[in-house]
Amino acid sequence: MSTTLRSVQALAREGLLDPKVVAELAPVEARYAVAVTAHIAEGISGGSEALRRQFVPTRAELRLVDGERADPIGDDVHEVVPGVVHRYPDRVLLKPVHVCPVYCRFCFRRESVGPKGLSLDTGQLDRAVAWIAAQDGIFEVILTGGDPLVLSPSRLGALVARLSAIPHVGVVRVHTRVPVVAPQRVTPDLVSALQADGAATWVAVHTNHPDELTPPARSALARLVDAGLPLVSQTVLLKGINDDVDTLTTLFRQLVRCRVKPYYLHHGDLAPGTAHLRTSLERGRALVARLRGRLSGLCQPTYVLDIPGGHGKVPAAAAWVESAGEGGWTVRDWQGQVHAYPPTSKVP
Ligand SMILES: *Cc1c(COP(=O)(O)O)cnc(C)c1O
Ligand code: SF4
Repeated sequence: MSTTLRSVQALAREGLLDPKVVAELAPVEARYAVAVTAHIAEGISGGSEALRRQFVPTRAELRLVDGERADPIGDDVHEVVPGVVHRYPDRVLLKPVHVCPVYCRFCFRRESVGPKGLSLDTGQLDRAVAWIAAQDGIFEVILTGGDPLVLSPSRLGALVARLSAIPHVGVVRVHTRVPVVAPQRVTPDLVSALQADGAATWVAVHTNHPDELTPPARSALARLVDAGLPLVSQTVLLKGINDDVDTLTTLFRQLVRCRVKPYYLHHGDLAPGTAHLRTSLERGRALVARLRGRLSGLCQPTYVLDIPGGHGKVPAAAAWVESAGEGGWTVRDWQGQVHAYPPTSKVP
């Protein structure tokens, strides 16, 4: 098996889901895109529940709960020209494509990504680049989508080079799942497409479970790092997949071992039909508190919440330092003990 499976029927044919549920999954598949790469299918066939839950559709996706919304992080509100989302003064998202090599069942952009989603045509891409070139406050351009690494090396290389040539752009950051879901796509041509004069390219790899860090995935990550590209990771906290201390500990340590710095642990966004994969904020905060002290600082990502409506990301962890009145503070250590810290004015 070497091709991507793109329907529940295909998943059933390869033994990844029970043929008896194919019919009842029709409305799920009609609403949300389905794709499982050969590499991921192998992991699911090999018995990985963490991979099955992330990529194989279920009826639970038809259940909508209060608060869920089609555009959970408010991309639309901040779209300035097609494909460009500008929420913060110094950085901007550019979405050249709306397709992904896999479709995650918890995707925060599940209403806009997929084969039916729009990708930018040449004229739109030119206008997007021109918009960025005209905003001299923009230091960082974040390529996202969809997954920008589905572009051919020549198209990707041309885009990275154009962005890097803009004098005020210092960093091009590429958000991708390709190294872990389709590691064979990380070819020497793709790696060199990511490098251009004028700006530094950073790669942010989306990965949620140690089962994704297979030997081919590790090699793909190594090819990127060996080429001199700095790598960070993004992980979504997912109920029944990685919402326990041991899984997160293993994941973040393995990432650091692969020379990838854990960057963000995202609280699950309020995307439609994803309640079964979302933890509570209380649980997320309790987990993250337990990681402190147990994991080195190098292995710790920042736990973040994207405020519904497009107000941006904020750290979501419980506070370690709190005001105790009269200028003093209480500080909780990693074992839960509380200590007093004197009023700042009295510290020499
Ligand atoms: C997440 C996001 C960014 C990047 O934010 P960082 O905190 O720098 O990773 C930029 N723009 C938008 C619209 C975003 O959603
Ligand atoms: S790779 Fe990212 S954008 Fe694509 S389906 Fe998964 S979460 Fe959504």
